[in-house]
Amino acid sequence: MFGYKCQECHRGTVREATRKDFEVKFDRIPFVVPEAVIGECDACGAEHFHGREYKRWRQLFEKQQAKTGGVLSPADIRELREALGMTMSDFSALIGTTRQSLHHWEKEDREVPQSRMADLMMRVLEEGVRHGAVDVVAFLHDRARGAGIELAAPRAARDGARRSGPAWPAPETYDGLYGIARRESPASPCLHTIARAA
Ligand SMILES: [Zn+2]
Repeated sequence: MFGYKCQECHRGTVREATRKDFEVKFDRIPFVVPEAVIGECDACGAEHFHGREYKRWRQLFEKQQAKTGGVLSPADIRELREALGMTMSDFSALIGTTRQSLHHWEKEDREVPQSRMADLMMRVLEEGVRHGAVDVVAFLHDRARGAGIELAAPRAARDGARRSGPAWPAPETYDGLYGIARRESPASPCLHTIARAA
């Protein structure tokens, strides 16, 4: 994997080195690789990474995420879809993916789970099914914090919007923006509808 000249100092050679409990981040989520092979310059000590090894770490990370509930399991996804009474075709269209991807995510022996973004989309839906209204900003912020991602608090969450109701511009503002003629339901009308349908 290594044995090439260091591009940092142009003096040393990058040698293979093993690191125990090597700390990395994927999508800003901290992850510890039990045994990582990296390259280390024998002159300046700079660390180098190899694409193939990095991919292996990513796979370990995804496996761990799936195992610890970091992402919804195939059964969780199927359950959510069935709670909504939707076919694979309709559910995939609802969340903006393809039927093929959804089919893959619902497979018990899937090799790659859904992306974090797709996972969050489905979790927002799940929350809507469970509780009706969802404070999406606070919910996503909580999910990020739960995953170990450090984020500055979004304004709505920082203002205590969770307890006192969403501190958003009036729905009329959005209506004006998008030309949507809807006035009756201020919070997450789509999710309300879905929750009722379930
Ligand atoms: Zn070097």
